[in-house]
Order: sequence, then structure tokens, then C-alpha cells
Amino acid sequence: MKRHETKSVKVGNLTFGGNNKVYIQSMTNTQTYDVKATVAQIKRLEEAGCEIVRVAVLNKRDAAALGEIKRQIKIPLVADIHFDYKLAIEAVNQGVDKIRINPGNIGSMEKVQAVVDACKSKNIPIRIGVNSGSMMDGMDPTPENMVKAAKYHVDILESLGFYDIVLSLKATNIETMIEAYRLASVTFPYPLHLGVTEAGTAFGGSIKSAMALGILLYDGIGNTIRVSLTDTPEIEIRAAKEILNNLGLRDNTPNLISCPTCGRIQYDMIQIAKDIETYLTTVNKKITVAIMGCKVNGPGEAKHADIGVAGGKGEAVIFKKGEIVTKVKESEVYDTLTKMIDEF
Ligand code: SF4
Repeated sequence: MKRHETKSVKVGNLTFGGNNKVYIQSMTNTQTYDVKATVAQIKRLEEAGCEIVRVAVLNKRDAAALGEIKRQIKIPLVADIHFDYKLAIEAVNQGVDKIRINPGNIGSMEKVQAVVDACKSKNIPIRIGVNSGSMMDGMDPTPENMVKAAKYHVDILESLGFYDIVLSLKATNIETMIEAYRLASVTFPYPLHLGVTEAGTAFGGSIKSAMALGILLYDGIGNTIRVSLTDTPEIEIRAAKEILNNLGLRDNTPNLISCPTCGRIQYDMIQIAKDIETYLTTVNKKITVAIMGCKVNGPGEAKHADIGVAGGKGEAVIFKKGEIVTKVKESEVYDTLTKMIDEF
């Protein structure tokens, strides 16, 4: 899938834009000044597959913690700041890899210049984030107005000779969001950070995000994604990986297929599918695993799977590429499959 052409922007050791990988990001929900809790959450996110993490910087105490957080984590750190240019400069001095701030909200041009100078001195990009819920001057959040708002902020940075820009145009309404990003992709040369804002809880929000992000990513639009969910941030990573994997934008992510079950089912397949799905979140390789309800149709229906299981009464057959290779007791299915996944 060809990616839409954009300028390349460095964020820590990653390069956003063009044909580079589409990176997964999330945001912590700890108090940023609580270094221990924030680092612990970021480590869980790293483990889950998060590639960039953003923290909210509300005050000097938060800003002062950034350096220590940065030292203890592996992935690029982004500081999310509203309005306060001094916090932005402190974040840059603390060593963050990117800041999210809207230059039009900072105040005087002297203050914007100070932030731009700080970012230029450390090669730190700025993400401009337009959000449908907080449009300037009471503007309606139409796609055109969202792009207009982004252009207002972009023009300020470009007038100061600053071009290390990433843009987001998040909306709660997915039609608005899709059109805003489409328009932005032909208006600006900068990488796009995709997201549906306030998408909802894990179930509904993941579906909404998959629809919106999927449509854009399929058209080659988008260079980094955040699936915003009302849940623990690790769940966001799981949803993001699923979206990218199903679009063929990940090469080290497992794929689980499982049948919907029907009257032929004879074992506790639903629980096994859930357990294997959880196990696969810890696996970083391309493998398709099939969990099928019956041994009459299962292996045949899942011929394209690398390995899989199809249950019978109190037992199950294990198959590879649609061919049955062994038979195990129902209680041994999980261990057998996880061993085979590890050995694959
Ligand atoms: S694999 Fe078997 S149990 Fe599952 S849907 Fe197909 S026929 Fe039904």
C-alpha cells in the first residue's frame, strides 16, 4: 500500500512521513510529575508495542519530571502543552523528542519565537493539533474550518522558518475527521497524526477508530496513529496493532482467526480463543493462528492458517496449514498451541 508523499520529520530515533512505517502512539493517564507511576505505565505501553508516548504537561512540576522520565524509557517522549510557552521551552530543555502545542494559542510572536528557537536548537518537531471540540473563534468544526485552523498555526511556524511539523485534525464525528484529513493531505506537505478524538470505550471506540483510521490509511494517508479509548492505554495499542495489521501495515504482528461457532461446537472454544488472543499480544512475529469449533469443517475452513486447533468432544485436533498433525485433550490445547506459536 503506497503511502501519501509527505515531508520526513524526525522524532527521536524515528522518522515520520512518506513511506516510513506508520507508528503507534498513546498517551499516559498518570500524573506526569509522578515519575514512578508514569514510567511504569510507559514501560507497560512499550511492552504492548507502543512506539511513541505522549504525556500531559500541566505545570512546572510536570515539566521538571520530563528529563527523568525520558532517561528511564526507550521510546520517544512527547510533551503535550497548552498555551504556556515557558513549559514548552522547559520540556525541550528536559530532552523531550517532540512537543504538541498550537502556536496560535501561545500569545505574542516573541513567545512563539522563543519556543521555535528552543525546538530548532534541539531539532525537536512540533505537532499542531486541531480538535473539533476546541475550534478557534467559535468556528464550526467542518473539515474546511479544521484545515483553515491548521493553516493558521502552520503559517505562524513557517513564517519563522520552522518546518519540522506534524499535524493532527481530530474530530469526534468520523465523517468530519476523514474529510478533514483528506483535505489536509492535499493542503500540507507534513506528516499526519491520525486519531478520532473522544472515540469512546474499548469496544465502540475501537470500531469507530478502525473505520475512520482504516479508510484513511487504506488511501495511504496517515503516518502515526493514536486510538483514543476510555480505558487503560495498553488497550489502545492492541487496537492500533489490529488496525495496522489488517491493512498489511505491520510485518511482525500475529493474526488470529476464529470461527463464529455453530451447533457443531463440542468444546469450550470461545474461552480458548480469548486466551490465545491475549497470549498473541505478547508475540512479535507474523503468524496466523486459527481457533475453530469442530474438526469436521475447522481445518478445511482455516487452510490459510499457519497453525490451529479444531475441537471435538473432550479433545481437539491440532493442524498446520489445514493438515491435521496431532490430537490432544481439551485441557492441553492452550499449552500445545502456545508452544507451537513460540516454536514457529
Ligand atoms: S468450524 Fe465448525 S463449529 Fe465453527 S462455524 Fe464452522 S462448522 Fe461451526
